[in-house]
Amino acid sequence: MQSINPYTGQVICNYREYSFSEVEEVIYKVDQAFHSWKLTSFEQRAACMKNLQVRLLEKKEELAGIIVSEMGKVKREAVGEVEKCASVCGFYAENAKSFLKNEPVKTEASEAYISYQPIGTVLAVMPWNFPFWQVFRFLAPALMAGNTGVLKHASNVSGCALAIEQLVRDAGFPENVFRTLLIGSKEVKAVIENPLIKAVTLTGSTPAGRSVASAAGYALKKSVLELGGSDPYLVLEDADIATAARLCVTSRLLNAGQSCIGAKRFIIADAVYDQFKTEFVRLMSAAKFGDPLDPETSIGPLARTDLRDELHQQVEKSRELGATVLLGGFIPEGNSPFYPPTVLENVVPGMPAYHEELFGPVAVLFRFKTEEEGIRIANDTVFGLGSGVFTSDIQKGKVLAEKGLEAGCVFVNDFVKSDPRLPFGGSKESGYGRELSAVGIREFMNVKTIVVR
Ligand code: NAP
Repeated sequence: MQSINPYTGQVICNYREYSFSEVEEVIYKVDQAFHSWKLTSFEQRAACMKNLQVRLLEKKEELAGIIVSEMGKVKREAVGEVEKCASVCGFYAENAKSFLKNEPVKTEASEAYISYQPIGTVLAVMPWNFPFWQVFRFLAPALMAGNTGVLKHASNVSGCALAIEQLVRDAGFPENVFRTLLIGSKEVKAVIENPLIKAVTLTGSTPAGRSVASAAGYALKKSVLELGGSDPYLVLEDADIATAARLCVTSRLLNAGQSCIGAKRFIIADAVYDQFKTEFVRLMSAAKFGDPLDPETSIGPLARTDLRDELHQQVEKSRELGATVLLGGFIPEGNSPFYPPTVLENVVPGMPAYHEELFGPVAVLFRFKTEEEGIRIANDTVFGLGSGVFTSDIQKGKVLAEKGLEAGCVFVNDFVKSDPRLPFGGSKESGYGRELSAVGIREFMNVKTIVVR
């Protein structure tokens, strides 16, 4: 397993993959740790979690450096990512106890209640795009709930995976409550089949989700899947166009466009289409790509050359089939896998840009004449992760959000962001289950019914 700095092209480190017996041994130890960790009080767990929060903040520059070097995002965003990890640790340290307290239920019995109990060791299969945040939004609720975890991180961010394992250790958590497994994706099935693994959560692409869900289904283990998206944003006639264009561009370019909840398709009312398009293209063209460590850079390189080339193929194929490229759409000179901010229009069914997730700084503009048509285009996708609607009529925005748009989260007059206080997850082929908030911490619990006659 190799970590390569996408900006410089230099190999950072070669990691030896764990053998089958090493993997088995780690899982055994983590299971052993579960049996005492589950008996600790919320106060004991919270003390460790708060230490972890402090350590993340103390070391944020250094940790952000590891993120930048392994996957290429701009330093400013990497620091923000580490700060967000600290906030989720603080959030669950404060709230886990109340989220998991017994819930009395009135029945004929003298007492009946729901008790939330941890289930054991959970496998987390994670992607490289937010290599700290994706892990922490699993890790913080899982450990606060009394579960233990093993992490199989993406093969290009092993440095991040090992840094997270070390942070947990240094924060004073007991040995082995959270461990990293340096393994490839082919080894995941065997880990899921291990009887000491009780459930699995995967954040990644839809094909990886299918594979993990099949293995988990066969083994009769619970799974949570956070998969891809092609998030649509409706811009209605009465929207504040300048604000809508600014927020849509911000969302599209975050993390160099490599975000599952990045705004990807923009569906604009006919009357304001040209105005939105002009402002949107102006803002997209102002974004500067370059060295991720340079504070002037807006977007860094994509994480890997193969991913950049795949994205360009999607753009090229769509262009050959008749799409118009308003901006970008070329491979810049040089060895780093940069892709310029790109805007497409005249995209129709049958083109990759219509159906597939575009995991980079590529935006697609659509025009609609009636709101029904706008909603139809927005929902004409296998994905259902996030979505947005821009309008000055808040009531209408809420109705469209609730009843119109098929997504796990819809933001009115803003772009979708994950927040520890709010459930996060998708519908349709974007996955199932939820992370974060009270809903997220209950995913991997035995919801136990207790009745006293
Ligand atoms: P990916 O290729 O699916 O990889 C994600 C993780 O799954 C990696 O650890 C990968 O390991 C592993 N994996 C891949 N194929 C697998 C298989 N057949 N069986 C078991 N494990 C497998 O995704 P990515 O390219 O890293 O990330 C981008 C994708 O993630 C996008 O589709 C994005 O939308 C999605 N994503 C979703 C969310 C969300 O919350 N919904 C958040 C972030 C990203 P290797 O690296 O060893 O292959």
